[in-house]
Amino acid sequence: MGVLTLFKGGRDQARAPALLVVGVHREERAFGEAVAAQLPAADFDLLRIEQGLSGRRPGPDDLGAYRRRHRALYAQILDHITPAHRMVLDLHTGFDEADPCADVLCADTRLLRCVEQQRVSSRPNASPATEAVRGVQLVDAEPAVRPAAMEGVAAGPEPGGHWPSLKPDIPQAVWCAEGFLYVGIEIYLPTTSQDTLAHARFGAAVVSTAAECAGRYLA
Ligand SMILES: [Zn+2]
Repeated sequence: MGVLTLFKGGRDQARAPALLVVGVHREERAFGEAVAAQLPAADFDLLRIEQGLSGRRPGPDDLGAYRRRHRALYAQILDHITPAHRMVLDLHTGFDEADPCADVLCADTRLLRCVEQQRVSSRPNASPATEAVRGVQLVDAEPAVRPAAMEGVAAGPEPGGHWPSLKPDIPQAVWCAEGFLYVGIEIYLPTTSQDTLAHARFGAAVVSTAAECAGRYLA
């Protein structure tokens, strides 16, 4: 199973309030590291998964094993979350043919509302009305239409809220914890564009915004 390497920004005792997790899916680790390089080291501890899982979704026969591997890896991640970590930002990436966009997944709708209100733009000259970031609510109940993994297209909106909802395939002790706020972040990038620096900056802007919003509700 995945070997976890915790890179800290120098001093052992200095823990940042945010733990950024990259490489749960091994194909996505390089992008996660590029995003981490754009973030201030003092504000984020980096948990880099050396040997992540494949992000490719299996067929129905292998789905049970796929989910078990995810739960086991996240159980290991729990060991690296210290009491100083008040938020855990789990970074993923996927593809979209349009402009870069992002899903922010959290059980706390105050965070979703805050992140959407910040209106993070994916391009310097994008119109302010461009909705680059969408909130997805993590819930305990199965949505009507269930995706194959914790990420991807979520089901329809929950009654009483405008966010699509998703029941995550990771331990509840991770996504619905007492001591820290879990935020999943999925950055969708166009396959045709190779503008990796701009993509990393967009990813870092989404991560920073999520961390800033999380900080408001953890005071
Ligand atoms: Zn992923």
